[in-house]
This record gives sequence, structure tokens and C-alpha cells, in this order.
Amino acid sequence: MIIYGILRAQVVSIFKTPIKEYIVSIKSLPQVFNLGRGPCSMLNDVQHYVTGVLNRDRLTLARTITLIESTLPDHQKLAQAIVDRLLPYTGRGIRVGITGVPGAGKSTFIERFGTMLTSLGSRVAVLAIDPSSSRSGGSILGDKTRMERLATDPNAFIRPSPSSGTLGGVGRRTRETMLVCEAAGYDVVVIETVGIGQSETTVASMVDFFLVLMIAGAGDELQGIKKGVLEVADAIVINKADGDNLVRTEIARKEYQAAMNMLMPNSPNWSPPVLTCSAVEGTGIDGIWKTILEHRRKLTDCGEMAKKRKTQDLDWMAFLVDEGLRHWFYTSPHVREALATLRRDVEEKKTSPTAAADNLLAFLYKNCK
Ligand code: GDP
Repeated sequence: MIIYGILRAQVVSIFKTPIKEYIVSIKSLPQVFNLGRGPCSMLNDVQHYVTGVLNRDRLTLARTITLIESTLPDHQKLAQAIVDRLLPYTGRGIRVGITGVPGAGKSTFIERFGTMLTSLGSRVAVLAIDPSSSRSGGSILGDKTRMERLATDPNAFIRPSPSSGTLGGVGRRTRETMLVCEAAGYDVVVIETVGIGQSETTVASMVDFFLVLMIAGAGDELQGIKKGVLEVADAIVINKADGDNLVRTEIARKEYQAAMNMLMPNSPNWSPPVLTCSAVEGTGIDGIWKTILEHRRKLTDCGEMAKKRKTQDLDWMAFLVDEGLRHWFYTSPHVREALATLRRDVEEKKTSPTAAADNLLAFLYKNCK
């Protein structure tokens, strides 16, 4: 796992790092991970990372994210200390979540959207949550080719975010990575997630603006789209509005708009629009950015944006406590042993599920008094 993490950090840095800097970075791997050094050097390490991130040093940023993603307790402790120190420098970015089924055109869209933003003078970070990336690492190369121009843009930073592994899964790592990117001066942080599974609702709960990318399809336009995703969308964008597809896209836009009008809006100050664009031709992309800015202005002016972020922080804390409790409970040797016996007893009808659950929870009550 460590070796994989190290390799991944290095592979990511290869794309954006001059050769000389890259060789230095390989030589300094032991320092990166604080190998063989005492706890007193931790403060120095924290300072080193914090300074590097604030100075917008890409290599330090990549290494900090590697620490965040590490499953080793020492790395997590160090990452936590770094994130805590960086917190005062976070919050200024515009956080945009993008989801859509595979093939909807997410990476083509982000490439267009990102390069448009950097040409306007913004710095853009893209965190791509790929369910396959936690093991294979393949998405690193994939993202490199998927977002070719953005990957070589000095004002952009692309990082695949593994979707599983530790406590908090996608949420924890991605959330902290997003904060670190903000501290490193990225004005817009885009979090891309594949619209299958649980990750899209987690992403929606950590961003300011959640965009669902769709394509016009034959038959039922709403087929395969989870209602829950539409409920948290701040805008729906129908991509591939070009060539022969233009008419179908417009029909789909009207159908989605009708569907959205039937949903209870997420916010009293915002009705999610349904827009169209062509990521390939670049049409409609600036309109989407204007919509994001308008949403930000409206919600900021009425105080909803600040409230939204506070609620997200509190929800996040509650989620972590929940996860921590579960982890602590289910990894306790006593619970593991008792659970195995009680499961058997329930299966053999020697005890009721309620009595078995009470028996297990008694352990929790005893330890929390
Ligand atoms: P992702 O899986 O959602 O990231 O989708 P990709 O960005 O990889 O795009 C899937 C396919 O759709 C690719 O062949 C793209 O070239 C194509 N595509 C993406 N955007 C558009 C578009 O706006 N118009 C057309 N015609 N094709 C597009």
C-alpha cells in the first residue's frame, strides 16, 4: 500500500514536474514520509508541508494529498495536523461537483470547462473520483489522456481520488484534498464522480454547486437516473448538443426541465435550470460558468451559501463520529467474538435478533459510561 502510494505520487508528479525536480523528489522519499525520525520532527514536517502548500508548490501539494490518502496511522496524524494548520486558508474556492454516467462526456467537459477557466485567469484543481483507481492506479494515465490540455496547463492540477480504503472512504480523502487545494490557491475545485454508486451524493454534500451531466437518449429520458441525484442537482446539463443530436438534445432538455419542475427545489433561492452544451465544440460552456457564478452570487447575498457550508461541516463531523463509532465497535475483539456467537444463535433461533442486538450494544453502554 505504501509502495503503491509512493509510486502513485511519483507518477502524478512525472506529468507536471521538470526532470531535475523529479529526481530530487525520488531521492527525498524517506523525508516525505518521515521515515526513521522521532515525533519531535513532526512539527518541522508540518511546517514544511504547510509552507510548501501555501507557496503553491505542486510537488508538496501532491505529497500532502498522498499523506491524506495513506492508511498508515502516522501519516494520517501528520496529514490531520497539516490540514488543521491549512484550514484558515481554505474556503475561498468555488467548489463544483460533476457527475454523470460513463460516456456522458464528463472528462471532455471538464477539459473544456477547465481550460476556459484558466484562460480567464483562474487556477483550477480537478479531483477525479474513480471507483477503479484505488487498486489499479490506471485512472492516472486515463486522466492524463482524457484531459490532455488541462493536464499540461500550469494553472491546473488534476488528481485522481481513490474511492475506498479508509474510514470515511471517498468523503474523507476528497474533502480534505479539496481543502488543501484551496489553500494552495486554486480558485475553482472540480470534483468529478461517476454517476453510479454512492459517491455522487457524498460529493453533492461537500460542494457549492452540483452539476449533473446527461446525454439525450432514445426512449425514456429519465431512465436510469436516480431521483436522489436529480434532487440534489443545482443544474442539469445535457451534453453533446451538436450535429444530428441538436434536436434530440432540445427535446431532452424540455423533458428534464418538466421533471425538475415537479421536484421540490433544494433551495428557496434557486431553481435548478436545465442547460445544453457541446463539450466537443465548446458551445454552452461559458453559459454554465455564468450559471454557477449567478448561483453563488444569489446564495451568498441571502446568506444561504455561508449557512450551507456550515451545515456541510457539521454534517461531516457527525458522519465522522458515526464512522468512528462503527469502526471502534466492530473492531473491538470482544464485539467480534460475541458477534460470531450471537449470529449463530440467531440463525439457530436460540435467541431473537432484538435480544442479540441488545446484548451487543450492552458492550457499548458499558464502555461509554
Ligand atoms: P466520460 O466517461 O463521462 O468521462 O465521457 P468522455 O468525456 O470520455 O466522453 C465519452 C465519449 O463521448 C467520447 O468519445 C467523447 O469524444 C464523446 N463526447 C464527449 N462530449 C461530446 C460532445 O459534446 N459531443 C459529441 N458529439 N461527443 C462528445
